Amino acid sequence: PLPEPVHFGRLVEDTAEMLAETARKRGLELTVSVDPGPLLVRVKADDGRQMILNLVDNALKYTPEGGRVAVSVRNAGETLIFSVSDTGIGIAKEHIPRLFERFYRVDKGRSRALGGTGLGLAIVKHIVLAMKGTIDVQSEEGKGTAFTVHIPKVKLN
Ligand code: ATP
Ligand code: MG
Repeated sequence: PLPEPVHFGRLVEDTAEMLAETARKRGLELTVSVDPGPLLVRVKADDGRQMILNLVDNALKYTPEGGRVAVSVRNAGETLIFSVSDTGIGIAKEHIPRLFERFYRVDKGRSRALGGTGLGLAIVKHIVLAMKGTIDVQSEEGKGTAFTVHIPKVKLN
């Protein structure tokens, strides 16, 4: 059976609120912008939160002090667009194709120092596919990264 509809904008706001303190401690500006209206998607609430958390955690982790992280939820007709962008270290082109593989990490030394296992994005991908969504990444080394998730909205009859 499909998961019950959840209010995705609210999940994002709740998760971002949890991360605001982390952002503040790291000297990062975290902004959250959510379009109004019932942005309903079918996902287990815990999975939805996990997906949001993993993306925002990366943005905060791979952005040096003084940087910005922007999270947004946009209403785009039949779909909802969730985006997490940062002004961080970026990702070199050659790494992009393997980014969503389990345990794949760009810079082993640096990644080890920052902690983690390299599972975050593999989990994100899995959850996005379960929602019948898509995920794209745009990145420029030294400039920043943006992950964009398209998720079909629940149709209200
Ligand atoms: P974990 O999420 O398990 O704690 P992780 O963050 O290293 O560990 P992923 O979230 O799967 O693993 O990310 C894989 C790799 O992609 C990271 O190690 C990092 O090199 C790169 N990466 C992910 N997000 C960003 C980002 N916003 N900016 C720069 N590099 C990123
Ligand atoms: Mg991660």
